[in-house]
Amino acid sequence: MPAFAEHVDSWYAASAGAAPSYTSLKGGTDADVCIIGAGYTGLSSAIHLAERGYKVVVLEANRVGWGASGRNGGHVGTGQRADQSSLEKWVGRETAGNLWQLGLDAVDLVCELVETHHIDCELGVGNLHMAAKASHALDLEHEVNQLTRDYGYTKASYLNREELAELTSASGMHGGMLDMGARHLHPLKYAHGLARVASSLGVTIYEQSPAVKWRDNAQVRVDTQQGSVTAKALVLACNGYLGKLAPTIAGNIMPINNFVIATEPLSRDQQRAVTRDNHSLSDSLFVINYWKLSGDGRLLFGGGENYTSRFPKDIKGFVRPYMLNIYPELADVKIDYGWGGTLGITMNRMPDFGRIGSRTFYAQGFSGHGVPTATMAGKLLAAAIDGDSEKFNLMALVPTHRFPGGTLLRWPGLVAGMLYYSLLDKLGS
Ligand SMILES: Cc1cc2nc3c(=O)[nH]c(=O)nc-3n(C[C@H](O)[C@H](O)[C@H](O)COP(=O)(O)OP(=O)(O)OC[C@H]3O[C@@H](n4cnc5c(N)ncnc54)[C@H](O)[C@@H]3O)c2cc1C
Repeated sequence: MPAFAEHVDSWYAASAGAAPSYTSLKGGTDADVCIIGAGYTGLSSAIHLAERGYKVVVLEANRVGWGASGRNGGHVGTGQRADQSSLEKWVGRETAGNLWQLGLDAVDLVCELVETHHIDCELGVGNLHMAAKASHALDLEHEVNQLTRDYGYTKASYLNREELAELTSASGMHGGMLDMGARHLHPLKYAHGLARVASSLGVTIYEQSPAVKWRDNAQVRVDTQQGSVTAKALVLACNGYLGKLAPTIAGNIMPINNFVIATEPLSRDQQRAVTRDNHSLSDSLFVINYWKLSGDGRLLFGGGENYTSRFPKDIKGFVRPYMLNIYPELADVKIDYGWGGTLGITMNRMPDFGRIGSRTFYAQGFSGHGVPTATMAGKLLAAAIDGDSEKFNLMALVPTHRFPGGTLLRWPGLVAGMLYYSLLDKLGS
């Protein structure tokens, strides 16, 4: 029998409460749509397809939310991962505006799912994105002005160093954008909540049921080790964990590993110093640092990444220096948890939406912006399968480039490029 992975030893797994558990697939079954992967993309697709009356089966290799969806920083950012100036250059002002609005709608969709279905996932408000270099402060100020002037967005404001200091003791920051449209949450509780909603709508979820083979001829057939699903349509929702399942789209994304630590609970004064108003926080470096408080007052700090197939042996020791660089006063605080996850990034940081043949749909490569965008991807995938491709095509038509090679370590030049940019983080101002 194959060994299936349980949740990684994270603060999220320790605090998510009893996980819903689902049987594995044994024997043959059928559905209108088969979805491979039970992260936000797969679960949101399942919910929105079921709401449209489709019979849906979800196959998850491990556990619901086992991938990036159960391990991430929990930041629910506005807009798209690429900034509006880049989008305007790539697709023109009007389409860039539509993409911006879709990004706002994605945050609203997360909130709507949480509120409508009473998903208890510690939903909080506001993100403070800070300039780690003086030159980045000008960029942030420009971005706030652009969003207000050109997009009518009034929830973002620029804060200078003194104003920042009132909200956080983070050191080395030169200014920041406070975005009160952004939200933050407990990612694994959110994933579990989505699975419960999907089940309540009649979706059948199978855990510990990795798809090993699929084909899309007159109909779709997906084989697992002990069963099979026949369906009229297929959704590939594996993102950074796609592996060799679909070689034709594997080269569109690069899987990278990112790491998070959770401290012991901080005192009230320490919590207030980290973030006075319980916003999530992040900085402007290429290898971004991102952090927030947990519901029980721990600092959840994400920092550092690697591009190999292995995680560092000592993840706590790997991430801690990034945290201490920003909060040196936390040197005596114990680190209780350290974990990593794999996410898919694209060349231009815009997600990769598409079709293979006429019945197989996919969305991947959310590039660190997947809490809102993968949730929205599920809604757009469901609409596209149901014949309404307008917004799916809006995402699919943003030009993307394939990575040369196809799977991890076949592109040493790109890894060298990532390392070059991460080195720049350490230099200059
Ligand atoms: C450390 C970290 C921090 C992050 N922080 C943030 C953040 O703060 N904000 C943000 O917006 N985004 C963040 N992200 C990105 C975000 O988590 C992802 O974009 C999002 O979760 C992607 O969801 P998904 O459903 O597409 O993929 P995943 O959640 O990775 O799910 C894919 C699922 O597919 C399953 N699978 C793979 N192969 C098979 C198979 N053959 N058969 C069956 N199942 C299979 C996997 O087991 C997995 O459960 C972060 C990611 C990481 C790793």
